[in-house]
Amino acid sequence: MKSVDAHLAEILATVRPLAPLELELEQALGATLAEEVASPVPLPPFDNSAMDGYAVRAADISDVPVTLPVIDDVAAGSDELRAVGPGHAVRIMTGALLPAGADAVVPVEWTDGGTVSVRIDRPVQAGNAIRRAGEDVQAGEVVLKPGTVIRPAQLGIIAGVGRRRVWARPRPRVVVISTGAELVEPGGQLAPGQIWDSNSFTLTAAVLEAGADGFRAGSVGDDPGALLEQLDTQLLRADAIITSGGVSMGAYEPVKEALSPLGTVRFDKVAMQPGMPQGFGVLGDDQVPIFALPGNPVSSFVSFMLFVRPALDKMRGLPGGMPETVTAYVTGALRSPAGKRSFLRGVLASDGTVSPVHGQGSHQLAALASANALIVVPEDVTEVAGGSEVEVIRL
Ligand code: AMP
Ligand code: MG
Repeated sequence: MKSVDAHLAEILATVRPLAPLELELEQALGATLAEEVASPVPLPPFDNSAMDGYAVRAADISDVPVTLPVIDDVAAGSDELRAVGPGHAVRIMTGALLPAGADAVVPVEWTDGGTVSVRIDRPVQAGNAIRRAGEDVQAGEVVLKPGTVIRPAQLGIIAGVGRRRVWARPRPRVVVISTGAELVEPGGQLAPGQIWDSNSFTLTAAVLEAGADGFRAGSVGDDPGALLEQLDTQLLRADAIITSGGVSMGAYEPVKEALSPLGTVRFDKVAMQPGMPQGFGVLGDDQVPIFALPGNPVSSFVSFMLFVRPALDKMRGLPGGMPETVTAYVTGALRSPAGKRSFLRGVLASDGTVSPVHGQGSHQLAALASANALIVVPEDVTEVAGGSEVEVIRL
């Protein structure tokens, strides 16, 4: 049997970061920056008001209350150059260009709000409520480095320095295909022997949470020919493919039957529970990685977390490795088969304990859905006493 680490190492040695593309901002969320982003101008580009109020000379309002004539009005976006002379005030809005001569803004709340003349009740220091040019970013300054994942705030600063497009590694496009003649689309009726297809939903959602785009291609039954046809179609748009089911030792294993003859996909027994049967390889001229995961719902999900997620990280240009673990105290005794790494479903509590959920079978999807962690039991450990320290992967 192959070790979990060896299987992951083989996967990470095969998958490559996606080539950067020039992405429109609308497509850039979740992509990984492949260039330095610098600002061509200072930000803010000009001195402006931080508040709605009155632009004044601070020296004019050292003795309050004081009433000043309001000689002008300046709104955000106005490009008319204004000036504030001694003893004058200009009504100003947040973000508006600071008039020449003004050295402070009095917030409207400290005044009577007048439009012809204004009574000011509190003195201000020079510089009050003024946002200086370049206070956020200097002209030419780098605001984002390559390797940064573009989240909403990063997208904001890219737009904020005036860019419409950016060089970034896109979110991988991952096609999810179910196999199994017993599968029915949720919403339909079950005939005897049938179950609803849950894996394709779990896996597509997991892809999305991993920062990639998942496409559900539905089920191809147990027909290897139908699978090959589906793969042919999907390879055009996929950066990676995930299949579920059809990789074990029984008859009707369409994934194994269809892909083994190609010679580019390996099927192994990996020393883990759940999830022992695993297939991995590449397909087509573009060497698109394919993850052939086992069909049991818990097995396919755990396999995704251990093998597909790190691979997607690498495709995104991020470090890809084993999921991080935290230490916790297990509330009950655990058993694990000799020679296999177990990933038991548990509930991690804020007091640092983890409780195994009831129902550790690899088909027990409801038990998985009640868990928030995987308790990792190493290969050489077969029994863990209640109260012991264990490593836990948060879900
Ligand atoms: P297989 O790996 O194809 O032998 O499937 C193992 C078990 O997982 C069987 O009980 C299947 O019915 C079940 N299974 C396979 N695919 C799915 C799926 N997409 N959704 C839910 N259960 C599945
Ligand atoms: Mg099957």
